[in-house]
Amino acid sequence: MNSEFDIIKKYFTFAAARDDVLIAAGDDCASVSVPADKQLLITTDTLIAGVHFPEKASPEDIAYKAVMVNLSDLAAMGATPAWLTLAISLPQVDETWLQNFSATLGELLKRFNVSLIGGDTTKGTLSITMQAMGLCDKDKIMRRDQAKAGDQIYITGTPGDAAIGLHALLNNIDDPALQPCITKLNRPEARVAFAQQLVSFSDCAIDISDGLVADLGHIINASGCAAQVHLSAIPLSSASRYFFDKYNKAVIDWSMLLTRGDDYELCFTVNKDKTSGVNELACQYDLKVTCIGEITEGHELNFLNDDGELVSFTDTGFKHF
Ligand code: ADP
Ligand code: MG
Repeated sequence: MNSEFDIIKKYFTFAAARDDVLIAAGDDCASVSVPADKQLLITTDTLIAGVHFPEKASPEDIAYKAVMVNLSDLAAMGATPAWLTLAISLPQVDETWLQNFSATLGELLKRFNVSLIGGDTTKGTLSITMQAMGLCDKDKIMRRDQAKAGDQIYITGTPGDAAIGLHALLNNIDDPALQPCITKLNRPEARVAFAQQLVSFSDCAIDISDGLVADLGHIINASGCAAQVHLSAIPLSSASRYFFDKYNKAVIDWSMLLTRGDDYELCFTVNKDKTSGVNELACQYDLKVTCIGEITEGHELNFLNDDGELVSFTDTGFKHF
């Protein structure tokens, strides 16, 4: 196990999953075939040790998160995942680590019917860059610039759980009741299957990776409209209610829930005529989907409390620089 070719062969080679891979990993380029009635969607995300995950994170969690953050971008536009590349930089050849990383990666490739078609393997600080590619029916995609005044704003899941999980880890709060939040942080679930059907009801979606405030902000900026969100409509998980009750004198810290990263849920807008379809779809996928406000004319993003007063957030979202 000395050369990168041994590593690639042993840990980054999986059984061929798809017949649309014309040239798999092993040549200078991979090649895939895109059907004439489909549109190709491409996204990349990098995870760096100490920045995007703790240095001591397990290889299983790292692989899981790396795949999911990429699939979450595909889900945000309604794409069906198809192919993946992996550029990995490793500080040393740790076979146990590689074995565990590879096992989780392989499980996810199988679960989502995705082929790993290439990559790059280098020595350096632990860092994982994946590129995910997916397919959509032509022009049947959700974009962040398609919100319209009058649309209802929806989110999946309960925002902020990952932020609570990170808070628990960073502050060494060892409380089993917060485990769901830590799981949410380490093992986000991209809303892939739901999103593929959501394109029939929504033209506009984003995945919440930097916090709802920032990501809904991207929607209204790109779409040239305003949004009103009612805090009272935003659902909290039972773990997050427990967290605020026990560790914050029962005061909900909305800034924590809405301005930190790593939710990987979807925020999307729906014309009023199509809201019942969205509710049925949510039932079908057993997914929590909640209407939290509406798109209006203008350009401001307003969050209102129970008394209808404006709540402002100074911290608007996870920023890298
Ligand atoms: P080149 O020198 O032509 O860029 P490499 O030597 O970097 O190619 O890689 C050899 C082959 O192995 C290529 O087909 C590449 O896509 C594939 N590969 C390299 N690293 C990985 C990886 N981590 N996962 C999957 N395939 C990989
Ligand atoms: Mg080459």
